[in-house]
Amino acid sequence: MVRSVLLITFFVLSLATNITRAADAMPGWPDVVFDPMIPTLEDVVGHAPGTRITSTDEAITYLRALAAAAPERTRLVEYARSWEGRPLVYMLVGSPQTIAAVEEIKTGMQQLADPADLQSSRIDLLVSELPAVVWLGYGVHGNEVSSTDAALLTAYHLLAAQGSPLFDKIEEGALVAIDPMQNPDGRARFVHHYRQTEGLAPATSAIAAERREPWPNGRTNHYLFDMNRDWLPLTQPETIGRVAAFLEFYPLVYVDAHEMGTDRSYYFPPPAMPYNPHITDQQKETLDAYGRNNAKWFDDFGFEYFTSDVYDAYYPGYGDSWPAFHGSIGMTFEMASARGMAGERTNGSVVTYADGVQRHFVASIGTVETAVDNREQFLRDFVEYRRSADLGEHGGLREFLIPRSGDAVAADALASLLVQHGIEVRRTRESGSACNIDLPVGSYLVSSRQPAGRMVRTFLEDESPMDADFLAEQERRRGLGLRAQLYDILGWSLPRLHNVPVTGCDDVSVAVEDFNGEAGLAWPLPSASQVGWVVPWGTRASGRFLAAAQREGLLVQGADQAFTLGERRYERGALVLRPADQSGMTSAAVHQRVVALAEATGAEVVATDTSYSREGISFGSDSVQPLPAPRIALAWDAPTVSYSAGNTRFVLERQFGYPVEPVRTRDLGQPELDRYDVVILPDGADYARELGSSGVARLKDWVSRGGVVVGMSGGTRFLTADDVGLLPTAREQLAGGKAADETEGTPEGSIITDADAYQQAILPTEPRPDPIPGVLMRAVPDPDHWLSAGVSDGVNFMIDGSDVYVPLRLDQGGNPLRFAQADQLAVGGHLWAENREQWAWKPAVMVADHGAGLVIGFVADPTFRAALDGANIVFLNAVLRAPGQTNKLR
Ligand SMILES: [Zn+2]
Repeated sequence: MVRSVLLITFFVLSLATNITRAADAMPGWPDVVFDPMIPTLEDVVGHAPGTRITSTDEAITYLRALAAAAPERTRLVEYARSWEGRPLVYMLVGSPQTIAAVEEIKTGMQQLADPADLQSSRIDLLVSELPAVVWLGYGVHGNEVSSTDAALLTAYHLLAAQGSPLFDKIEEGALVAIDPMQNPDGRARFVHHYRQTEGLAPATSAIAAERREPWPNGRTNHYLFDMNRDWLPLTQPETIGRVAAFLEFYPLVYVDAHEMGTDRSYYFPPPAMPYNPHITDQQKETLDAYGRNNAKWFDDFGFEYFTSDVYDAYYPGYGDSWPAFHGSIGMTFEMASARGMAGERTNGSVVTYADGVQRHFVASIGTVETAVDNREQFLRDFVEYRRSADLGEHGGLREFLIPRSGDAVAADALASLLVQHGIEVRRTRESGSACNIDLPVGSYLVSSRQPAGRMVRTFLEDESPMDADFLAEQERRRGLGLRAQLYDILGWSLPRLHNVPVTGCDDVSVAVEDFNGEAGLAWPLPSASQVGWVVPWGTRASGRFLAAAQREGLLVQGADQAFTLGERRYERGALVLRPADQSGMTSAAVHQRVVALAEATGAEVVATDTSYSREGISFGSDSVQPLPAPRIALAWDAPTVSYSAGNTRFVLERQFGYPVEPVRTRDLGQPELDRYDVVILPDGADYARELGSSGVARLKDWVSRGGVVVGMSGGTRFLTADDVGLLPTAREQLAGGKAADETEGTPEGSIITDADAYQQAILPTEPRPDPIPGVLMRAVPDPDHWLSAGVSDGVNFMIDGSDVYVPLRLDQGGNPLRFAQADQLAVGGHLWAENREQWAWKPAVMVADHGAGLVIGFVADPTFRAALDGANIVFLNAVLRAPGQTNKLR
């Protein structure tokens, strides 16, 4: 008894005398007494927090030890496996009563998340009884390492702190979920690199090897995805598992802890402008409440910080924004990175790993405290958020129609993705129509009048408008030649990414049923045939079919022109598979294989009893080409942009099922290149320097002998460079920009009379068009070119940068896809007026012969975040079909 009184007195005193001295000590909360039954990090893995970078395996080992020491206060849950087989876990920590009631807490939060049918007495009861569920996510960027040790330190304090009013209050009022490593593969990559390079003492210089990771760095996961952008497309298992876990609990707050440049201090919300327009004023106020409490603790500890700058809340696919559209509060924390154990700032001060651990830890505890202190109010705010969205107080059209016509597989995929996001989707039970859109049976309806209605709007509408004042300020800055203040892409509409037509509509009346996310096969399985089968081209499923058939060694042919068999017209690009072409197989055996492929890939496969075409070509035409299985090399390592290389590999391997061999860029100049049919050059900065002149010459020679080289963004810049000359075009300067001053020697005298003339005088000469920060642009096909087969209605590309090319003349090559006219160009996100004018009609995909081979240039990555359905079909044309178009000798 005496002891606890003393402790409390000491605690009060320590607050009064300020706690800055903790900054020099080991990370942890000062003046707290710990339960000796709870093991420390040092007890379990041999080092204390902040003294060594804890590996992924050590972190899991320690959490297991904590769970074993306090089974009644924890629950350790594996929610996903990474591509490299590492577990992703969260550990729930609460009082014994809270942990015993975890299932009731889930049910309670799910009930509050759908409050329409809840009686107010039930709401009151839940609000008074439910704990504040707080989700702390760490290390989504695997090389931002300090946060994982902060996670372990947080878990230790929540379990071991004794007699502390702060930690007692947290135990009483919160259920805390700690996700220590949102990206274990990336962290493992970093730790492996770091331990390989460390020596006697930390090397603190900015150029020290231990602080400079090799390509690819640990930011990304196995397929080199930035998983803090994957919350919208949901392509990676880590994110898919995380979203599912979130939707079980609907936590009040989701923290995503990061690191930023070494020279900075610490960032926590409120965020910078622009806000996504569907974040409510109430949510902004709550962000401010979290920010104020964290500021209070940082002031007490003497830590520097900033808010309301750099990190905006506009793109809805971050860990700190996505939760907001379910009525939660999402937050990013950013700590100056030591990039190892210690790093020197430009001003000479040193930031240590322990600094990062301590600050993330304090911000974590401060956040849990805010949630506990405001538990009932925040729960009521959550209910109000969900209720007001359900009633449509956010406005907008009532329904979004996804007709199941055209590419039914793409419509199914979009609808299933929305269900994964926790959005209610319904399916029509009869055919009907609404707002002049035909809705065949099985079409999808998504109401914006649902608890996640604001998410529905920001995901499905073409644009989520930025604040008018913010836009005006950006126009002013552009006038001064300054960069726009935007952190990520501006356009993300899911229908545009998936290339599925979706229409908003206020008046729908057709019988519906709930859709659970599992669409089933879209087509009947193909019947037997002596003549063959046709696979209409242009869907992701048809791409999977081609890839699988090529891998299995079946001979598939591709029709470069349209044809009509019986009543059915097949657009150009259709695949033809004939039993007669498959040597050594009976028709029945081929049929069996074709059925299995149709089932596995979901493609529409149609049996035909004749190849006689009522209109167009027959199977024996010269326009029907064999599509041999290509061997594909992908430029890897420097100078490629790792996202572009990794996402491209993912699209081919995991979305289409076709293997790719990564080859280090400098090795593309080796004679072994002859083993490949296709070389992909993803985005990258300086291929010419990496390859050297002899490497460039060898690559050109390989193309001239029948190879296919496919560039995207920076890869295409390389192909068009003057000293490479594989694609005969060039990037444009800003239309109407200021020309270079040709005069030499002493400049002529001039008189500047006003501000406009002054602005003109200081503008740089020959500037490029303003870089675009990520806008979806429409591209329309050349209707006769095989490279645009399957996308006759057009596709969308995500444009960032300023690569406007001069269209190829017909004597030089072709422009199989070009950007749409100015008024139809931007289909998602805000585009400056001059950009709109200059990008219109310019090439999106270019092609030229080079000897017997082909050179294909994508202006933008068709594999961007693995989210662009449609553009990826053009990409498949370039890698799986182009080899059949070359004059390579076989
Ligand atoms: Zn980060």
